[in-house]
Amino acid sequence: MSTGHTLLDPELVEVTPGVFGYIQHDGSWMLNNTGVITGDDGSYLLVDTTSTEARNRALLAAVEKITAKDLHEEPPRGLVNTHHHGDHTFGNWLMPQRTPIIAHVTCREDVLAAGLVAAQVLQGPDYGHLELRPPDVTFTGSMNLHLGSRLVELHHVGPAHTRSDVVVWLPEERVLFAGDVVFAGGQPFLVEGSVAGYPKGLDAIRALEPEILVPGHGPVAHGAEVGRVLDDLTEYAAFVAEVGRAGRAAAQTPLEAAIAARDNRFTGWQEGERLVGNLYRAYSELDGNPIDARIPLDTVWADMVTLNGGPIGCFA
Ligand SMILES: [Zn+2]
Repeated sequence: MSTGHTLLDPELVEVTPGVFGYIQHDGSWMLNNTGVITGDDGSYLLVDTTSTEARNRALLAAVEKITAKDLHEEPPRGLVNTHHHGDHTFGNWLMPQRTPIIAHVTCREDVLAAGLVAAQVLQGPDYGHLELRPPDVTFTGSMNLHLGSRLVELHHVGPAHTRSDVVVWLPEERVLFAGDVVFAGGQPFLVEGSVAGYPKGLDAIRALEPEILVPGHGPVAHGAEVGRVLDDLTEYAAFVAEVGRAGRAAAQTPLEAAIAARDNRFTGWQEGERLVGNLYRAYSELDGNPIDARIPLDTVWADMVTLNGGPIGCFA
C-alpha cells in the first residue's frame, strides 16, 4: 500500500463562516468529501457520510468538535445523502435514529437495491462494521431546509452521476455541495448515471452561479476555478459521447473503444479506468435503453481492471 494513500487525516475547510467541507485527499475511489452546515440557532446539518467504519467514526468526531455537541445528545437536524453510493452512505447507520436521512426518492430505492455490494467490488479497505440504513425522508424536485436563519436548498439535478443526484445549495452564501456530479481531478463515473444527462446536471449547477464549490471528490473550487472545473467536465462528457458513437458505429466493444481512445487529453486525470464504464452507459443509451437500465457492475469492473492494466487501487 502506498503511504501517500493511507490517509486518515482529512482536511477540514471552513468555506464560509459555519459551513465546512470535510475533504478526504486524494479523492480517489472511496475517498469522498462530506459537509457540515451549522445554523445560528444551534442546529446543524450533515451532507453525506463516508466509506469505512473508521473513516465514519473520524468524521463524526470532527463533527462533534465543530459543533461542540455530543452527536447523540444533540443530534443533527438531518443528514442529506447526495446519492446512493456506498462512499457517501455507508455511515448512515451511525446517525442517531431520530436524525432523518434526506435524499431523492430514487436514492432510497438504490441504497436498498445496492445493499453493501460496493464493499465487495471495491476490495482493499478494511470497511469494519457496516449496516444498511436507507434514507427515510425522500423528495422529488427540490426541498428547502432552514437552520435558524440559514436557508439550505436541495435540488435534484440527476440523472447525471446517478439518477438520484442531489446538490446542496446555500443561496445566500453561494456555496454548493455538488456530490459526485463534480469530481475535481478525477474522471467522472457515469456507469450508473447518464452520459446524455450529465451535461444537463452540470448546466443546472452552472445556473446557480456558485462562488464556492465542494465537489464529491477532490479539492474545493473557488471563484473562476468553479467555471473551469465545470467546463472541463462538460468537455469530458462530450468526449465520452463521441467515443461512444464512433465505437458503436465501428462495432467495437466498450473495452475496445476505450483502448482505441486511450491517448486523450483527459489521461492526466485520476481513475482513467472509468472511461470504459462510462462507455457502457453511452452504448446503453445509444441502444435506446431507459435511463435507469442497470448495467452489471461485475462485467464493467473486470473491463476497468483490464483497461487499468491491473487491480484498481482502493486505499480507503
Ligand atoms: Zn458516487
